[in-house]
Amino acid sequence: TPSENRSDKRKVIAVVGGGLVGALNACYFAKRGFAVELFESREDIRQAKVVRGRSINLALSHRGRQALKHVGMEETIVSKGIPMRARMIHALNGTRSPIPYGKKGQYILSVDRANLNKELLTAAEHYPNAKLNFGHKLLDWSIESGAMTFLRPDGAKEQIKADLIVGCDGAFSAIRKQFLRQSRFNYSQTYIPHGYMELTMPPHNGDFAMEPNYLHIWPRNTFMMIALPNQDKTFTCTLFMPFEDFEKITTEEEVMGFFQTYFPDSIPLIGEVAIKRDYFRLPAQAMVSVKCSPYHMGDKCVMMGDAAHAVVPFYGQGMNAGFEDCLVFDEVMEQFNEDFSVVLPEYTRVRVPDDHAIADLAMYNYVEMRSHVNSKWFLFRKYLDNFLHFIMPNTIIPLYTMVTFTRTRYHEAVKRWHWQNKVINRGLSLCGVASMAGGTYLAIRFALSHPSLTVDQLWSRVHTLRWY
Ligand code: FAD
Repeated sequence: TPSENRSDKRKVIAVVGGGLVGALNACYFAKRGFAVELFESREDIRQAKVVRGRSINLALSHRGRQALKHVGMEETIVSKGIPMRARMIHALNGTRSPIPYGKKGQYILSVDRANLNKELLTAAEHYPNAKLNFGHKLLDWSIESGAMTFLRPDGAKEQIKADLIVGCDGAFSAIRKQFLRQSRFNYSQTYIPHGYMELTMPPHNGDFAMEPNYLHIWPRNTFMMIALPNQDKTFTCTLFMPFEDFEKITTEEEVMGFFQTYFPDSIPLIGEVAIKRDYFRLPAQAMVSVKCSPYHMGDKCVMMGDAAHAVVPFYGQGMNAGFEDCLVFDEVMEQFNEDFSVVLPEYTRVRVPDDHAIADLAMYNYVEMRSHVNSKWFLFRKYLDNFLHFIMPNTIIPLYTMVTFTRTRYHEAVKRWHWQNKVINRGLSLCGVASMAGGTYLAIRFALSHPSLTVDQLWSRVHTLRWY
C-alpha cells in the first residue's frame, strides 16, 4: 500500500553520475530517507588536481535556485555567484550597449561549475544514508534484474543491484543505451555545426577587465563570443563558431587577424599572448541536442538532466532544467506517496513536454543570440515587450522572463509567447493601419481646403512635413 511504500526506506536508490544533476539528486533522495548510492566514473573532483568539465562557469537562474533551495543549498551557491543584470552587447566599432534581462532586481548568476559540483557532492555526503562511490563507470545494466555492472579503476568489474536506478550520467548516457534497445522509445540527437572554445580574460590592475555584472556578448551573425565573470576577477570568454571556420584558422597570425577583424576591443583585454596560446591549446568542443521519451522504464529506472535532454547552451537552461527535473520528480513523489510504479510514468507525462520545449527554445536562441540582437526590429520588440510588461505585468510577460525568472512550465511559456506575439503583432498592424488612415484623412482634408494645389505639390509638402 502507499503508506507501506512511504515507510519503506530500506529501498536502495542508485544515482548514476555525480555531475551537477546527479549530486543534487542524491541530496533529494537522501533527504527523503532512502539508502542512496551514487556512482561516478571520475575520481572525486574535490581531490583531483585538474578537473575536466564542460564549461568553466554557467548561468544559474530561478529554476535552478528553487531546486537548490529545496535541499537548503541556495544561499551557499548564490553567495559565491556573480549577478549578471543585463547582456552587454559589444558592437564591431567597440561601442557597448546593455540590454537588461528583466525588471530592476532581476538577474542571473555566473557560478563556477567545479565549485558547484563540489558543494553538491559534499552536501550529499552529509546525509548518513548517502554513499558516494567514485571511480565507478557504469558499463551496462539489466532491465529484468536491475543489476548494474561497473568498471573500477583497477580494471575489476563489480555488479550492484538497486530498487531504483536514476540515470544522471550526462549527454552520452550509458543508462540511455538500454532504453534505445526498447520498442516504442523515441530518440533523436542533433549536433549543431558550431563548436565552442574557452579563453580566459585576466584581471586588469587587480580588478575585472570589463564591467562584471553583465553577460558580455559579441554577436557577429554566424558566430559570436560571450564572456561570464568569475570570482577571481577573470572572465571566461567562449567563442561559438562553425567547426569549418575554426579549422580555417591554423596559425598564430591567422588567429590574431581574426580577432583584429571581429573582436578588436577584446585583444588588449585577453592579451595577444593568451589568445595565441589558448586558441591552439584544445580543439573546439561539439554541442549536441538530445530529445527522447519516455524518461522511465517500468518502476526500475528514470533518467534526468542531460541524460534525458541535452540542450544546446544558448538559453542558459541545461543545468537549470536538470535541477528542476529533481524538483519536479520530488513533487510527483510527494503527490503519489513514493510509489515508483505510479511516480515514474507520471514524471514522464509531466516532464517530457517541458524538457522538449526548452530543447527547442535553446535551438531558437542559438540564432537569436548571435544574429537577432544585431537587428533594430529585434531590439525594438525587446523594448516594446518590456514596456508592455511594465504597464500590464500579468498580461504580457516576455518569453525570457518566463523561462529565466519564473517556474512557468516551459511548454506553457512557449504557448503563451506565441499568443502574446499574435496579440502584439495585431496591435502593431492596427497602429499601422490607424496611422495610415489618419494620414490619408488629413491629406484629403488638406487637399479639399487647398483646391488649387496639384498632386505633385501636395506630395512635396508631405515629404517636407516628414522632417518635423
Ligand atoms: P553532466 O554535467 O554531464 O554530468 C554527468 C556525470 O556523469 C559526469 O560527472 C560524468 O563523469 C558522469 N558519467 C558519465 N558517464 C558515466 C558512466 N558510464 N558511469 C558513471 N558516471 C558517468 N546550463 C545552464 O543551466 N546554464 C548555463 O549557462 C550553461 N552553460 C553551458 C555552456 C556550455 C559550453 C555547455 C556545454 C553546457 C552549458 N550548460 C549550461 C548545460 C549544463 O552544462 C548541463 O546541462 C549540465 O552539466 C547537465 O548536468 P548533468 O549532471 O545532467 O550532466
